[in-house]
Amino acid sequence: MIPAAPLPMQPDAMPADASLPAPVPAAARWQHAWRQAVRDPRQLLALLGLEQISARVSDAAAAQFPLRVPRGFIARMRHGDPHDPLLRQVLPLDDEDRIVPGFGLDAVGDGAAKTANGMLQKYRGRALLVATGSCAVNCRYCFRRHFPYAEETAARDGWRDAVAAIAADPSLEEIILSGGDPLSLATPKLAELTTQLAAIPHLRRLRIHSRLPVVLPERVDADLLHWLSALPWPVAFVIHANHANEFDASVDTALARLRGNGARLLNQAVLLRGVNDSVDALAALSERSFAAGVLPYYLHQLDRVQGVAHFEVPDTQARSLHAALAARLSGYLVPRLVREVPGDTGKRPL
Ligand SMILES: *Cc1c(COP(=O)(O)O)cnc(C)c1O
Ligand code: SF4
Repeated sequence: MIPAAPLPMQPDAMPADASLPAPVPAAARWQHAWRQAVRDPRQLLALLGLEQISARVSDAAAAQFPLRVPRGFIARMRHGDPHDPLLRQVLPLDDEDRIVPGFGLDAVGDGAAKTANGMLQKYRGRALLVATGSCAVNCRYCFRRHFPYAEETAARDGWRDAVAAIAADPSLEEIILSGGDPLSLATPKLAELTTQLAAIPHLRRLRIHSRLPVVLPERVDADLLHWLSALPWPVAFVIHANHANEFDASVDTALARLRGNGARLLNQAVLLRGVNDSVDALAALSERSFAAGVLPYYLHQLDRVQGVAHFEVPDTQARSLHAALAARLSGYLVPRLVREVPGDTGKRPL
């Protein structure tokens, strides 16, 4: 299948040059970029010329939830700026060591909702598959930083349990691939799942939640696009970008390829103090997303897990930011401001 989108980035077409190192085979290219991720906070600070703030790095936080950030994402951070909004999303700071009442280990009730087959069902008509516990980037605000996803993923048994549970429940129309990051699985592993799902007549939509097109756009390769374009259902693809600076030309290309192969693109962001807690930052995020072919979907209030309290924006401020955003932007550029409350029938509007 030839992708319909223009492909300005075509490494396969580069002429061979004997003076260059041996090329990485196309199928392994994104895995190669994945393995080049920086995992040492002090190395990250050195790359950014920020050695002077290394005393603020928390080794305890980094041991509990390791730093992991792809090189391409680092390239979008501002050199020498300790307040860079991308850096703040990934750097383990001593703020995380504070124990704050109300911030627990499982804020969203996943432990109770999760079944043995790696499936979470909280809402009508749709079930979420915890496809894998891996991510290309570890986001400090993540609600899954304490959750033992790695032990119980839907992929573990060749998807058999999850597929049987889905087939047995005709009320399910939509399957949501989540995690972790589902695109951290190799494409043949994803195809193994969708081939089995294709035999289930009641499924009407597939949804994919992934931060990879933004943090590791190399992942959107020819194999992935071939898989995507051959799926028998309409696909909603939810990227997770929190700041306009997360987009660059490589991300635009990856998103154009996804769109060109039939995916509808939406963005879900988390409202984060020091990252996007201003009307300017939120407006820029919506505008930049739309320029890349992505409509804003949700703006989430933070899930209150241990170690993330310094990211929290109070509800009153969240509401006034959202109102100011609505007063500034076209309606379709305004995401819904929501919070996840255990036991609710859907995300709760603020
Ligand atoms: C958030 C979530 C969904 C998706 O909710 P939408 O409002 O449809 O985006 C589905 N299942 C679970 C378990 C969720 O946490
Ligand atoms: S699940 Fe999403 S928010 Fe959490 S670490 Fe992975 S990419 Fe980041």
